[in-house]
Amino acid sequence: MGFEKFGQKSFTSRTKVDDFVEYLANGELRGTKCKSCAQSYFPPRADCPGCLGGDMEWLKIEGTGRLISYTRANYAPTGFEADVPYTLALVDFNGIKVFGRLSSAIPEEELSPGISLRTSISQLPGARLTYEFVKTEQ
Ligand SMILES: [Zn+2]
Repeated sequence: MGFEKFGQKSFTSRTKVDDFVEYLANGELRGTKCKSCAQSYFPPRADCPGCLGGDMEWLKIEGTGRLISYTRANYAPTGFEADVPYTLALVDFNGIKVFGRLSSAIPEEELSPGISLRTSISQLPGARLTYEFVKTEQ
């Protein structure tokens, strides 16, 4: 399974991190971690730009994250025009910063840096897979 199950536009169908999509299909969001210098990456990287090592391992993004920042997109790049408006967010999961969309079910007035979020994997039309951030149960 390559990135055709995840990307819409401008994606490479085969990469060294294809397993990212397999993990999504199994309900897991994963980044990578360098075995040499322990630096973590999201989106996953096949090689470490920090120490130039290529010995990476998969790292599960799990638990509760904290919203760092967000922005509402009212205009979208090619391929995403039908999705606007949507909200993009950066969420800190225990030191790993994960970029993605916020669930549209979260009212804008409830958004503020520091709120607790978790990841949610879902299927889109066309058997495509995606993830988003949803509120944790209080
Ligand atoms: Zn490294």
